[in-house]
Amino acid sequence: MKKPSTPTLGELVFLGGGHAQVSAIKNFAMFPVPGLRLTIVTSDYLTPYSGMLPGYVEGKWNDDEIHIDLAHLAQFAGARLVVSTCTGIDADRHKLFFNNRPPLHFDLLSINIGGQPDLSAITGAKENVIPVKPISNFQALFHSLLESGLPKKIAVIGGGAAGCELVLALNKRWHYHGVAPQITLYSRTSTLMSQMSSKASHLMLKALHDAGIKIQLKRAVKKIDKGTLYFDNEETANYETCFLVSAVRPPEWLKSSALELDKNGFIEVHPTLQSTSHPHIFAAGDIATVINNPRPKAGVFAVRAGAVLSKNLRKKLFGKRLVGWSAQKRYLAIIGTSDGSAIASWGHFGFKAKIFLKLKYWIDRRFMEKYQNLLMPTVPAPVAFQGIFLPTDLHRSDPAFAAMRCLGCAAKTGHKVLESALEDATNIARLAGADPVFLPDIGIETDAAVMVGPPHGHNLVQSVDVLSEIVSDPFLLGRIAAFHALSDLYAVMAKPTSALAIINLPEASLSIQTNQLTQILAGGLLALSESGVKLNGGHTSEGGTLSVGFSVTGYAKNDKPAMARPGDAFLVITKPIGTGVIMSANMQLIAKAKWVESAILQMAKSNRLAAKHFDSTNVIAATDITGFGLARHALNLSRRVGAKGCVLNLRYLPLLAGAAQLFSSGVRSSLHNQNCDAVVIDSQRLSENTEFTAHAEALFDPQTSGGLLGVLTRRNAEHLVELLKSDGHNAAIIGHLDFNNESVQLSDKIIES
Ligand SMILES: Cc1cc2nc3c(=O)[nH]c(=O)nc-3n(C[C@H](O)[C@H](O)[C@H](O)COP(=O)(O)OP(=O)(O)OC[C@H]3O[C@@H](n4cnc5c(N)ncnc54)[C@H](O)[C@@H]3O)c2cc1C
Repeated sequence: MKKPSTPTLGELVFLGGGHAQVSAIKNFAMFPVPGLRLTIVTSDYLTPYSGMLPGYVEGKWNDDEIHIDLAHLAQFAGARLVVSTCTGIDADRHKLFFNNRPPLHFDLLSINIGGQPDLSAITGAKENVIPVKPISNFQALFHSLLESGLPKKIAVIGGGAAGCELVLALNKRWHYHGVAPQITLYSRTSTLMSQMSSKASHLMLKALHDAGIKIQLKRAVKKIDKGTLYFDNEETANYETCFLVSAVRPPEWLKSSALELDKNGFIEVHPTLQSTSHPHIFAAGDIATVINNPRPKAGVFAVRAGAVLSKNLRKKLFGKRLVGWSAQKRYLAIIGTSDGSAIASWGHFGFKAKIFLKLKYWIDRRFMEKYQNLLMPTVPAPVAFQGIFLPTDLHRSDPAFAAMRCLGCAAKTGHKVLESALEDATNIARLAGADPVFLPDIGIETDAAVMVGPPHGHNLVQSVDVLSEIVSDPFLLGRIAAFHALSDLYAVMAKPTSALAIINLPEASLSIQTNQLTQILAGGLLALSESGVKLNGGHTSEGGTLSVGFSVTGYAKNDKPAMARPGDAFLVITKPIGTGVIMSANMQLIAKAKWVESAILQMAKSNRLAAKHFDSTNVIAATDITGFGLARHALNLSRRVGAKGCVLNLRYLPLLAGAAQLFSSGVRSSLHNQNCDAVVIDSQRLSENTEFTAHAEALFDPQTSGGLLGVLTRRNAEHLVELLKSDGHNAAIIGHLDFNNESVQLSDKIIES
């Protein structure tokens, strides 16, 4: 009897991708709990290991080396990934809040969001300093300094270990670029690194002096404006660039969470890391304070908390007794001095030596390697039944025999689930700015939608498209599925007016299903509202895997289909391609987070504006690029307007970031081969050692919510590309129609403009 899949019975949400959290997530990946759904909520796809930030500033580490890719970790753990900044928690009602997206339900919550330098402590800091955290923001500003010619007069506020380390790293980097900076380190305390041994503090003082850094102790900055620091003793100092590396503080919104907080606003937890007020919530790292055993806000404690956190989350799930954790009183801190050595501080001891730098690098790299080289367990490809199938080549292009089946392109769900999900999603969409005209009429139940017919001189146009879970964020999936379905109407220059939702939910408890459906519908409703389309109803069933789709209706002028003229029929594409290979690589943990991020941004981008420009530039005909891949869609379009085939110039074909690398390294979506078999390709026009082989492969890559492809005269095509680019589209003329050859011919010739 086929083993039924375990319905989802509980939701464990990891808020933040901090040092403790990544260890807990990996633990649940290695030892999964059937029926427990994991969700990771993070502001960024990448989580930094801040202990390596000074090394990054001085040039020792690159961006990949100091980051953990949370998209990989989520895929590895089979967890949903929600990339959005949490702006509130309702600990009693088990909800996380965000701007412009639905609240997320949790049964068990683990918080590890770290802290941010307190910008409110210094007037004008928000506008004038570069805070060291959030690190993604720091990196962007740091690089703009490197590109804009390295200002000389630098102020760094914060005399702790992180501040001292950063000052020496900046000093080394500036000298590396041939600039002698005048760096001044300001600290309100009378000693440097007050949390370290006094020996270590003296060694740092000497290291800073040797590096030519000016040190100003007992200098509390109370105000800052452009170029000037104002101290509480009314003195001032000038600067060109100012960094802030002060003590971290918790986010303001925690105050309204109902969670018990310590006097500084950090989450109070028992030694079990369980909130002292809400037993279903845990916290670790800088954001948490262990009652009766507070520790400095340092990464070493966040890392150590990881094992206890995963153990206690699991014990809490099964109602078992939790284990207490007593963080060590003395801990080894190693602070780099950017001179080939480092200072080690432990209890009252402090030493400076090269070996400590090697030890620091070894500790940091060992931690990161646990999360940077994740490999998806290899799933053997299904093998055909020897007795009834010949080992022919047939299976090469049958996705059923692919080791990993790519996603993306079955019983009715309970009335209560549907009713409350639709109501919540509609309210959220309204609050997020959706036009009420396009929102469903809540409470009015009709079996079918009565719609107004198309205006005079127009035909009714309909289409339907359903996606499986190409992204694990249900809100985003709703949005992408809506835009994917609408593109069929945009491709025929139709104005979409209404939609019906078609959603299949995996088995889960009612509250979990309701929250998932709310997320999906809210994402879909916002997308439909942006497109001026009303959701008139739909069908929601349950069982098996998640799928989301829309049937869309609209109208288009009943013009006679136009035909293209030989010699003046050019192909324009509106979005780069590569979503298939990138999302397939993501499933195999070999795609970089920034590639996944840009692919998802492209899929979540509507083709409405592109269609408007197509219409205004007299497009002859168009199509949207989806599962069959560009080559097949281009061939279908060419034949629809009277041509036999087309010539595609790979040199001008826009690809998504990372797609070329992935194609060159042999990665393919499971539908790739089938698409390849469906088109006759003629490569005679390609130059011998063409550098565009990856682009050639991209022609067979199945797209989800891909762009539009249109045929226009040359003059209209050039005008269209200008319009599209001015609206932020990565558009291009990629070829022309051929009225003699029934194939897709590839070229890489340079076209003189
Ligand atoms: C320059 C520098 C050097 C340092 N060197 C060391 C060192 O050598 N040794 C040491 O022990 N400590 C060091 N520290 C301190 C250390 O960085 C922190 O103690 C540590 O980062 C805290 O880790 P954490 O796990 O609590 O959170 P973090 O590492 O800050 O991670 C927080 C995560 O939560 C996410 N997040 C935050 N807010 C939200 C939100 N609202 N919604 C969704 N996601 C959110 C972030 O994107 C991030 O992924 C250093 C700090 C700095 C600034």
